[in-house]
Amino acid sequence: MLYKPAYYDDFQCTAEDCPCNCCHDWEISVDPETARQWRGRLLPEGMQVQRRIRKKMVAIRHMDSLLTGSHRPGVNRKISMNPDGRCPFLDERGLCRIVLTYGDDMLSKTCQTYPREIRTFRVSGGFRREYTLASGCPALLDILWKQDHFQVQEVNETISAPQAQAAAKGPFGAEGSPGKMDIFLLIRTCFLKLAGNPAYKPRTALKLMFLALTDLIGMKAEKGALTLDMVRTYFRNTDFDTACREVEKADVLGKSFSMSEHNNLFQDISVEYRKRKIYTGFLEPLAWLSQEYSVFDEDGVPTEAYTARRAEGKADRNWDRLFADFRSRAGAFEKHFRLLLSNEIYSELVLPETETLEDLMVKLEWMALECGVLMQSLFLTFVKDGQLTYESVRECVYIIIRMTGYSDDDIREYMENSFDDILWPWWYMNDIV
Ligand code: SF4
Repeated sequence: MLYKPAYYDDFQCTAEDCPCNCCHDWEISVDPETARQWRGRLLPEGMQVQRRIRKKMVAIRHMDSLLTGSHRPGVNRKISMNPDGRCPFLDERGLCRIVLTYGDDMLSKTCQTYPREIRTFRVSGGFRREYTLASGCPALLDILWKQDHFQVQEVNETISAPQAQAAAKGPFGAEGSPGKMDIFLLIRTCFLKLAGNPAYKPRTALKLMFLALTDLIGMKAEKGALTLDMVRTYFRNTDFDTACREVEKADVLGKSFSMSEHNNLFQDISVEYRKRKIYTGFLEPLAWLSQEYSVFDEDGVPTEAYTARRAEGKADRNWDRLFADFRSRAGAFEKHFRLLLSNEIYSELVLPETETLEDLMVKLEWMALECGVLMQSLFLTFVKDGQLTYESVRECVYIIIRMTGYSDDDIREYMENSFDDILWPWWYMNDIV
C-alpha cells in the first residue's frame, strides 16, 4: 500500500515565481548513481566556473568537479555552492542549466523530487511506502494551508519485491525491524490525532506528545519491552484533556526568562548562516532585535538594552503589552501552525532507519527547538513590522525549517553537544515551546 497526504498531488513548483528558490542557501545532496553519471561529463552549456584549488584559481570543466564530500561507496555527495550560496548550475534567469543541456534525468534525486520524499518502511507483513512533502517550500505551504485538516490517503499500489529490495538499499532504505516499526508508526498516528485536535493548541499538542513519549520510554524500561497493545491501551486510557489543562496552566511563553532562552536559541541557530551571509535580509534585523529584547544574556546577566529600558521604568509595561498584541495576532494563524505541525510529524518523526524510542524523542525535541526558534522569529518579525501577514508568517516558516533541516546524525550531534542529557527534563520542554 502507498500512503500520501491528501494534498500531495496538488503540489506544483512555482519555479521562477518562487520567493525563495530551493537552489541556493543550503546543501544539495547528489546520490551515488547521479554522481557516477556526472563523472567526466562536461559542464552544461554557458557555464564558466573557477574554483580555488591548492591556492590557485582553476577553470572547472567537468560536472563531478563541482561535488564535495565523501567518496565512500553508497554515500551521497554535495554540490559545491557558489560563494554567494547559489547553486553553480543556475543561470541568470534562475533556470537549471543541467536540465537545459542534459534534461531532467541528469538531476540528482533530491533535485528531481524536492520537496517530495518517498520513504519505504519495513513493517510486519511487508513494506509500507509513504510519500511526503517537506515544509521548507513556500508553494507547499500555500497548498498545505488551504486544507481544513491534515489527512493521509491510502492508494492501492502494491510494491513489488524487486522495488522493495531496491528501496531497502537506498539512502532511506527499509532497514527497520518490522515489529519495532509498527510501534513507531502507531505512536506517530496517535501523535497526529493530538496535533489535529482543535481543543489543543499546536504548542500544547507538542508538549503532550513529549509527555506521552516520556511515559512510553518509562514503560519500556519497566516492562523490558513495548508492544502494540501497550501503546494502544496507553493512548486509549490517558486523559489528554486533563493533561492539556495542566500543561496550559504551566505555560511560561512570554515570560522574560523564556524570551531570553528563545533569543539565545535563535541566535545560536542563526550564527553560522549570518557568518556565511545566508538569509541576510531576513536574519540581520531579527538578530539585532533579539539582542535588544533579551533580558538575560547566555551567562544569565541582564543585558544592557534591558537594563536601560528598566532604568527608564518601561521595560515590563512595554513588554507585557507587546507580547499580548503578538499573541492575539499569532492566534489568527493557529490553523496554519496545526497543519504545519501535522506535516512535520508525518514527514519527519519516523524514518525507515529509526531504531529506538530515544530516536523518536530526539526528533520530537528537535521539532520543539524548531518551534521555539520559529515562534521567536515570528515575535521579532511582529516587533519589526508592527504586524504579522500571511507572507511574513510563511517566510518565517520556510526559512526556519530550512535552517533547521539537519540530517539525523547532525541533530544528534547538536543535542549531545548542547545538553547534559539528550532526553530533556520536562521543564526544559516547557520553557522552549
Ligand atoms: S522551494 Fe518549492 S516552489 Fe521554490 S523552487 Fe523549490 S520546489 Fe519550487
